[in-house]
Amino acid sequence: MIKSVYGKLFLGFVATIVISFMITGMFAFHQSKADTTTLASGELGKSSEHISDLVERISKDDLYKILSDYSQTSELNFDLRSDRLKMSYGHFDRNVKLSEKQVSYLQSHVGKSITNMVGTKIAYAKSFNINNRVYVICVQKDSSDTQKTYLTSYILAGIILFIAGSLIFLVVSDFIVKPISELTKATNELGKGNYNVRVNYAGDDEIAKLNNAFNQMAIQLAKQEETRQQFISDVSHEFQTPLTAIGGFANILMTENLPDDQRKKYAEIILSNSKRLSTLSKNMLQLATLEGDDTKLDKSSYSLIAQLNRVIETQDYSALLKDIEIEFIKPRGDLMVEADESRMEQVWTNLINNAIKYTKEHGVITVEVKKSGSNVIVNIQDTGIGMSKETISHIFERFYRDDKSRAIEGNGLGLAIVARIISLHGFTLDVQSQEDVGSIFSVKMPLYVKRLAPRFNEKKE
Ligand code: ADP
Repeated sequence: MIKSVYGKLFLGFVATIVISFMITGMFAFHQSKADTTTLASGELGKSSEHISDLVERISKDDLYKILSDYSQTSELNFDLRSDRLKMSYGHFDRNVKLSEKQVSYLQSHVGKSITNMVGTKIAYAKSFNINNRVYVICVQKDSSDTQKTYLTSYILAGIILFIAGSLIFLVVSDFIVKPISELTKATNELGKGNYNVRVNYAGDDEIAKLNNAFNQMAIQLAKQEETRQQFISDVSHEFQTPLTAIGGFANILMTENLPDDQRKKYAEIILSNSKRLSTLSKNMLQLATLEGDDTKLDKSSYSLIAQLNRVIETQDYSALLKDIEIEFIKPRGDLMVEADESRMEQVWTNLINNAIKYTKEHGVITVEVKKSGSNVIVNIQDTGIGMSKETISHIFERFYRDDKSRAIEGNGLGLAIVARIISLHGFTLDVQSQEDVGSIFSVKMPLYVKRLAPRFNEKKE
């Protein structure tokens, strides 16, 4: 089996040449035969006229000698017959000889001609009225030489075509095979983990498109690799800080003569850091689950107002500790939404918790619910530290924390979780913020429309 593309292309090329050569050969051979016959008949016709001329002009006594000489010099075989004589000149071939029937036909139809052909041999016969006597002159010719010349030139043309074609093929196939080989090399490099590899190929053809797709894939893989590296370094950094604190304070606790209040304080630090680690791993796990390809939402219709009331109640205590007031503005009546209730509870908890975290003491947080057409918008507004435009562009990235918020407890995963849940639902999330003024996080989601059960008397179409 031929394995290389070169080999396959060459085989295809040879097959094309041979098959097309055979087909054109058949046609050309057929045509050349017809051409030779016409050519030969014309030629033989002229010769027969010439012979009849000689018969007319030369006296009977010299006729045999002169016609023999003519046959020798012109390499022509012919026979001449009338009611009185029958003479053959040269090596007259019996195979193409005229039949008696043909002779008597020509004798009775003066001026007519007949052509006989066997293989490469042609016999041309014509009747003439010379000096009131009917003569039938039959001239023979072997066209094998002409056909041999045809065949030789045809084979020669074939060989030239094959050599020239092969040379052109080598150059042309290089255009196809070379980029493929380069792409294979680049793919191997990529397989070894070199994500910076790129293939250069100018053009707009299929190979260029393939190369572009390869380059895009390499760029994408490089990005993914960078994200993976960044993730590992972020995770280890996030784990390292509380672990160092736990290790350090546990060491101090081992000192024997430590006053009780200090011992208690250090134990509390250890506890809070272990809590931080636990939250971190829980959040990471949650994000990993949400980012999985087969994440399913457990959707149901429920009251949005009741849900927000519940979340505000659970966050009330931390707000109270900072003397922050949570204001809840809602329209009259209930608003039903269709979503994954527990995941949406997580969204409101994270957003309200952030609002409390990033607002200084005595601040105000407003949770406002308002209808907008067939949608409902939930705005969570705070009077906190706010964010710059640059910060806003990063807050949904995993582990991103603004420098200003580093002193505040957190791990940079809360908003990544929020964004993922919102996008899984197909809702929209919007942020507006001004540094030292405050921020507004807005979630827009469709109101639940009760679907009517099909009535039994409805006809199916
Ligand atoms: P965390 O709060 O644990 O740091 P998040 O993912 O919830 O992580 O938030 C990412 C970053 O976005 C925060 O560190 C903070 O810089 C910024 N941020 C989020 N919410 C607010 C807010 N309400 N006010 C100001 N900054 C915020």
